[in-house]
Amino acid sequence: LFDTPLAEAWVRAIAAAVEKEEGRLTELDSAIGDGDHGSNLRRGFAAALTALDGLRPAGPGAVLSKAGTTLISKVGGASGPLYGKAFRAIGAALPGPAGPADLADALAAGLDAVRTLGRAEPGDKTIVDAYTPAVAAFRACAAAGAALPEAAGAAADAAEQGARDTIPLRARKGRASYLGERSIGHQDPGATSTALLFRTLAEVAA
Ligand code: ADP
Ligand code: MG
Ligand code: MG
Repeated sequence: LFDTPLAEAWVRAIAAAVEKEEGRLTELDSAIGDGDHGSNLRRGFAAALTALDGLRPAGPGAVLSKAGTTLISKVGGASGPLYGKAFRAIGAALPGPAGPADLADALAAGLDAVRTLGRAEPGDKTIVDAYTPAVAAFRACAAAGAALPEAAGAAADAAEQGARDTIPLRARKGRASYLGERSIGHQDPGATSTALLFRTLAEVAA
């Protein structure tokens, strides 16, 4: 079950992962953006950890909602509000411990929030390109009766493939879109961090 301790473990593991991968995310964002994606996420999730310290969450959703609110207030870049709204939407959909099917619905609500705020379509070279296949894979596994670790692992694999598949795309949203054709040939930083979030979920669920 995805319960409060697992939600806390996920946020902690994300904070550790974005700290470890900060350089790589920054490098990707230097190629087609302004080079701050790694530091944006490191700062945001470090603040989310601090916010969790004093919290006595009512359920797993409260943990993720708090993380989302913190990201919105601490991260200035595009990714702060996008991930912030996503985590708040995931959190709002998880009042109590959730099985794979309920977690699939919650993750899908997070994707809807990203799409409502950012208006990106699949293929626009954004977070949506990793998040969409991840939700589809998670849902398919949950519908087939898979347990949480398996569903999360399949989602992580799909997100990583989605992130790699952004390389040949031309960016149509966010800063990278200013580059036009020159955005082609580079992996999108936000799709890459989305894959990291799903890989981290698979690791803490295992
Ligand atoms: P900024 O571009 O403001 O510096 P970041 O570097 O933290 O913010 O985040 C950049 C990432 O945000 C991009 O790689 C892309 O994946 C994602 N992004 C930008 N605009 C959108 C959007 N409208 N919808 C979804 N994702 C987006
Ligand atoms: Mg940036
Ligand atoms: Mg920026």
